[in-house]
Amino acid sequence: MVSSVETLEFQAETRQLLRLVIHSIYSNKDIFLRELISNASDALDKLRLESLTDPDLGADTSDLHIVLEADRDARTLTVRDNGIGMSRDELVELIGTIAKSGTAGLLQKIKEAEDAAAAQHLIGQFGVGFYSAFMVADKVTLRTRRAGTASGTQWESDGEGTYEIQAVDGLPVGTSVTLHLKPVDSEDGLADYLAEHKIRQIVKQYSDFIRWPIRMAVERTTGGAATGTGSEEGSDTGSDTDDVTTHEVETLNSMKALWARPRSEVTEAEYNEFYRQISHDWLDPAETIHMRAEGNFEYEALLFIPSQAPFDLFSRESKSGVQLYVKRVFIMDDCEALMPNYLRFVKGVVDAHDLSLNISREILQQDRQIRSVRRRLVKKVLGALKSVRTKDAERYAKLWDQFGRVLKEGLLEDTDNTEALLELVSAESTHDKAKKTSLREYVERMREGQDAIYYLTGETRAMVENSPHMEAFAAKGYEVLILTDPVDEVWADQVPAFDGHRLQSIAKGQVDLGDAADGDGDAEAGARRDEEFAALLPWLTSSLSDQVKQVRLSSRLTTSAACIVGDAHDMTPTLEKMYRAMGQEMPPVKRILELNPAHPLITALRSAHAANADDPALPEIAELVYGSALLAEGGDLPDPARFTRLLTDRLTRGL
Ligand code: ADP
Ligand code: MG
Repeated sequence: MVSSVETLEFQAETRQLLRLVIHSIYSNKDIFLRELISNASDALDKLRLESLTDPDLGADTSDLHIVLEADRDARTLTVRDNGIGMSRDELVELIGTIAKSGTAGLLQKIKEAEDAAAAQHLIGQFGVGFYSAFMVADKVTLRTRRAGTASGTQWESDGEGTYEIQAVDGLPVGTSVTLHLKPVDSEDGLADYLAEHKIRQIVKQYSDFIRWPIRMAVERTTGGAATGTGSEEGSDTGSDTDDVTTHEVETLNSMKALWARPRSEVTEAEYNEFYRQISHDWLDPAETIHMRAEGNFEYEALLFIPSQAPFDLFSRESKSGVQLYVKRVFIMDDCEALMPNYLRFVKGVVDAHDLSLNISREILQQDRQIRSVRRRLVKKVLGALKSVRTKDAERYAKLWDQFGRVLKEGLLEDTDNTEALLELVSAESTHDKAKKTSLREYVERMREGQDAIYYLTGETRAMVENSPHMEAFAAKGYEVLILTDPVDEVWADQVPAFDGHRLQSIAKGQVDLGDAADGDGDAEAGARRDEEFAALLPWLTSSLSDQVKQVRLSSRLTTSAACIVGDAHDMTPTLEKMYRAMGQEMPPVKRILELNPAHPLITALRSAHAANADDPALPEIAELVYGSALLAEGGDLPDPARFTRLLTDRLTRGL
């Protein structure tokens, strides 16, 4: 029995929004189903909750579910739930108007937005939910009966400005939304939404973890013995003869949102299985992080640290591994707003309860709450890594092997977490050839009076170990970190300090090992030496002015005659090379030649210069001293042929 029909107008803002939604705000029309299923799921939640608090409601909550019905003849798709339903007034209030505050102002801005992208950006700030049905339907019929009431209401609209509303008797409690589908038009993004495979695909993609069953009658062709794979409740066909097409009801979604269950109820095997599903990895994860935040921004997060790095970790296409859900509805893959780039190896799911389903990547990036979620997740991941290090050094060593390089990117990107990241750094060191060290262990071994953490960068461990820069440090028993990854040079230079100790390259600046006890550092002796070399140094500086900016005496050498060092704030040769490789133009950075005043070659050079400052052999020897120092640190000679000729001449004359 149908009572009188009332025609009502959409609220002005609603009309505008409808137009926007229908006319190409969305590139992906499939999401209408996600929106309708999400509404149905909310309605089921509400009914369950309300019948708990109000036992007189008299609603049947024994089999709460969602049903999808595709009708080829009528070209309709219906989403039906047996949830809370809506009263007539609620219907007008909820569907006929946009109740959300600030909508009118927002629409004004959308109208003023120059293009579709800007409009979408704005519209992402609130849900359009139900209206998305009009992207795929030219008419929508909604029938609903509120739990606890006797009669129902029908609402119908073509989305053009008015809707009709009328009372309907005999409806079950709950809501059905019937879409009269527009014709299939692949150019316009309109798929065949009646096709079973299409419906399955959308449900799997967006609504798999909805906690209520999403059912659909599916066709099954059976030959001989009937198979009932995957169905929750097969219909009785009673026939198992030749090929027959039967209809049976199947639940399309898995409903298993592991992250929403209490941690104590999930087994390790279940976590691992879930990890393998979302990561397409076949190894178990190294670490599992499961957390829940309550309060004004609720979310659950289930994150995994893989045991092995993916092959494309350093490719440009490598993406963030975190998926975003909103109340168990899938929103997006690769949610870079939730995990910084340097933690792109972390896989998992974040389910935020208080976001709009329609949220865009751009909005997420700016959202204050999302940023605070991200900060918390980063702290959790870094904390988990740290705790592996404390508990199981061997396991940590493996993780560092896999992810150390990408974590070091964090030292450049994420200055908020410098200290936590430095706690994770593992480096080779002169202390123990067989084992890498943490900075913390280094600091514990620091000598009395040592204030800096010393390091030297180079291509290989052997090159670093045998570098002239190392001599005095080795002689005096100072530990030096051996950094051989190109990125080391960058972070070690940028990081201010660890635990109050600055990081100091032993190939840069002046070295003062401050050890007066062994006499060399003695101030008086130093002054005497300076005087002895007062003539040679300026002469050498000008003779080698094309190559170096200064020649000075060294306190870092014991056996080598000379070495080359950088000024404290100059760019290192490796960095220079890196920048050039990236196509950056820059003037060559000149460094400093340091001489070992105790070396026989240097004292002989001093005497020769004192005897005859115009000796034509002197500039050639200066060049050889510089060239050898460059070779010793693994550098490239600008003119190797010339160097070899000078050296050969010298050797010949010497024999
Ligand atoms: P949102 O879900 O973000 O609130 P929608 O446009 O999707 O926005 O839905 C508007 C409102 O209409 C919902 O908040 C809900 O109150 C009501 N509604 C929509 N679908 C249903 C349904 N299937 N059952 C009960 N109420 C519904
Ligand atoms: Mg909704």
